[in-house]
Amino acid sequence: MVGKERIYLSPPHLSGREEQFVRDAFASNWIAPLGPQVDAFEREVADYVGAKGAVSVNSGTAAIHLALRLSGTAAQDTVFCSSLTFVASANPILYLGATPVFIDSEPTTWNMSKDALERAFYDAVEAGRLPKAAIVVNLYGQSADLGPISDLCRRYKVPLIEDAAESLGATYRGKASGTIGQFGIYSFNGNKLITTSGGGMLVSHDQQALEKAKFWAAQARDPARHYQHSEPGYNYRLSNLLAAVGRGQLQVIEERIAARRRVFARYHQALHEIEGVEFMPEAPFGRSTRWLTALLLHPMRCGVTAGQLVEALEAENIEARPVWKPLHLQPLFQGCRYYPHSESESVSEQLFQYGICLPSGSNLSEEEQERVIDCVRRTLQNGPGAKGAFLEYDKGGRWGTCTPTSN
Ligand SMILES: *Cc1c(COP(=O)(O)O)cnc(C)c1O
Repeated sequence: MVGKERIYLSPPHLSGREEQFVRDAFASNWIAPLGPQVDAFEREVADYVGAKGAVSVNSGTAAIHLALRLSGTAAQDTVFCSSLTFVASANPILYLGATPVFIDSEPTTWNMSKDALERAFYDAVEAGRLPKAAIVVNLYGQSADLGPISDLCRRYKVPLIEDAAESLGATYRGKASGTIGQFGIYSFNGNKLITTSGGGMLVSHDQQALEKAKFWAAQARDPARHYQHSEPGYNYRLSNLLAAVGRGQLQVIEERIAARRRVFARYHQALHEIEGVEFMPEAPFGRSTRWLTALLLHPMRCGVTAGQLVEALEAENIEARPVWKPLHLQPLFQGCRYYPHSESESVSEQLFQYGICLPSGSNLSEEEQERVIDCVRRTLQNGPGAKGAFLEYDKGGRWGTCTPTSN
């Protein structure tokens, strides 16, 4: 709408403390990758999450790539991966010439279904072909139910990689999200809870593995005076300048989490009683950061689809997004195997069909949030579809009956 300032989904939020660290980096002439800010940032993130060590890189995607290579993934291998996620979770599987096998979500956490995972393992054993790793994604700030998932992985001796790009600061039974699997990865992309404008981190309790990752991330240079290389490497290291930004961000991370949780609480308070609206649950095993407030709209009950609400918000210059399109439905991954939550229920497809993420920045003002809430309320009250219009949609009364067909 003309004149109304844009409200973004999840914009960066500076603390004011970044500049001093950046100035220190300039003053010391460390305007290069590596350097004292990088070392300090790695130590501070490792301390914050309680990991033995950390290796900073220039993206979360790079961190996943390194974790996969550490797990021994190579061409012709398979890797289990959550289906309901951003494509970056699975792209590194392709970089290594391996094939993803996608695992559905469960309704209680929206994250990896242990039932589906168990069936995938069962089939893999039958076929005599265990995956080289399992990538579990902690969606929208909430940890997956990692107890049973890591038990299964341990039973089959398959390394667990936690894609905690969206869940830095979340907890699972008292432990930090990202520290429960063999490897955890974080992202400091501009839309995440804290940002370096672009960056990522690999964490682990395995120092030796982290040393190897650091070696690969800096072009795999052998310890010789001349330039000597015996393995392929990458140019993945984080710039010292950006690490300085990250240190300033990390200092206020708890305030950022509190602010995102307040944003969620206000949405919940204002909208939860509306017929057909259902918020992403917070699992009882830990704290979600509520990185993004996500909710479902059941069109038969509220008269509006998630897509229609995204458009109505856009018309008022408000950025909202549908929930991730499951990777097993992406053309890129056509033909890959997929294990639904149960034989008759594909949870990720339903979450994609009905789910929407609302603006959730830690710097979203109460007036801005009022604008969003007001638009959501009006849209849900006035149509666009009359409530009955979706009846044929939801035959049988279950919100799972109208599932798009998978490939
Ligand atoms: C953002 C994100 C990534 C990738 O992080 P980048 O730093 O952008 O490479 C990976 N997985 C998930 C689930 C994400 O949301």
